[in-house]
Amino acid sequence: MSARNRSREIYRRASELLIGGVNSPVRAFAAVGGEPLIVQSGSGARLLDADGNEYLDFIGSWGAMILGHAHPAVSAALAEQAARGTSYGVTCELEVLLAEQIRAALPSVERIRFVSSGTEAAMSAIRAARGFTRRDCIVKFEGGYHGHADSFLSQAGSGLATFGIASSAGVPEAFATLTLNAPYNDAGAVERIFAARGKEIAAVIVEPVAANMGVVPPESGFLETLREITSRHGALLIFDEVITGFRIGWGGAQNAFGIQPDLTVLGKIIGGGMPVAAYGGRADVMKMVAPEGPVYQAGTLSGNPLAMRAGLATLAELHRPGLYEGLAARTAHLANGLREAAKSARVPVQINVAGSLLTLFFAQDPVHDYASAKRSDTAKFARFFGEMLARGILLPPSQFEALFLSAAHTDADVDRTIAAAGEALASIAAA
Ligand SMILES: *Cc1c(COP(=O)(O)O)cnc(C)c1O
Repeated sequence: MSARNRSREIYRRASELLIGGVNSPVRAFAAVGGEPLIVQSGSGARLLDADGNEYLDFIGSWGAMILGHAHPAVSAALAEQAARGTSYGVTCELEVLLAEQIRAALPSVERIRFVSSGTEAAMSAIRAARGFTRRDCIVKFEGGYHGHADSFLSQAGSGLATFGIASSAGVPEAFATLTLNAPYNDAGAVERIFAARGKEIAAVIVEPVAANMGVVPPESGFLETLREITSRHGALLIFDEVITGFRIGWGGAQNAFGIQPDLTVLGKIIGGGMPVAAYGGRADVMKMVAPEGPVYQAGTLSGNPLAMRAGLATLAELHRPGLYEGLAARTAHLANGLREAAKSARVPVQINVAGSLLTLFFAQDPVHDYASAKRSDTAKFARFFGEMLARGILLPPSQFEALFLSAAHTDADVDRTIAAAGEALASIAAA
């Protein structure tokens, strides 16, 4: 790897102007130390930094780039659309085409609204749920992430039905009290929250496979119980499939697990690397949204044609037979290789996998919720991240994130990653 002089110089200028030198906090690499990456270009599973160093990329723009960077079909669609205009502020057929594709994949999405970020989609889904049920509280799970809207930036100190405590400055305590938190995979806690406050709860929002505390799959029966409790209490079940949609399979987690949510939040993959997200679901709930109903929500660039084309091109590629099977097989191979490597190095790890999502936790015991994820040795993870980066492998810069495999990662890429991990883990064990 050549010296990162140019990257360093760009980062120095960035730090004088952008907050923390970045436009989203995790990019500052604060959890792993070291200097943040400055990217020059991406192609397939690879990124080049500003000094021309190449990295095998397992961030994949946090899952959006499931086809890899600069996929020829997506790039061609973007170029063609750019010549016809990039935003009209008036409806075009591309919005209908992408909506039709999404409904074909996720039949629970009877009606849909496109927006520009996952944050906006989750925030708007909650507003629709509150408007429909005429209730104010929501239930979410500790360690779940649904973007940075005020309602979601709270975290209960204990796992039980407590009032939320704002965990971001700037969120009024009054908002936080409307958000009730439960531990992920703890259906009993949700049952107790509903027993106490069921008539106030508009919705339960959940990542059907948690991927923002590291990957934590739902335990058998967890999602089924959420479906049953919400129905029984007249509350809505919202699946945040911003990561899992079109990743856990063509039909997202809801079809993989056979659970029909009332509302679904999508993002990342459906925009093919452009800023797109969506919320949708039951027609009677979605009809609450303006202009059909009294719940207001709007967006200048919503459904813009460039983004719709990128999404359509991406979904067309994902529809190819065998794509998800290949992704899952390579991810399973990576998981097995990492497990073996950790065993040889005698470093205790827990590896959680769901489809093409994987997290290697430096933890002694199985990880099934946020509390168990938090018992990971984050200092070890930081060393692992640095050792892998030095070997040209870019992992997400936090213990509590998923590795995202893309269709551009080859078997050889996976083998190279396993070999690098073997060396990295051995050096950690020796330290
Ligand atoms: C990324 C993410 C979001 C937020 O999406 P943004 O486009 O970053 O606002 C919401 N929910 C989940 C599950 C996510 O992973």
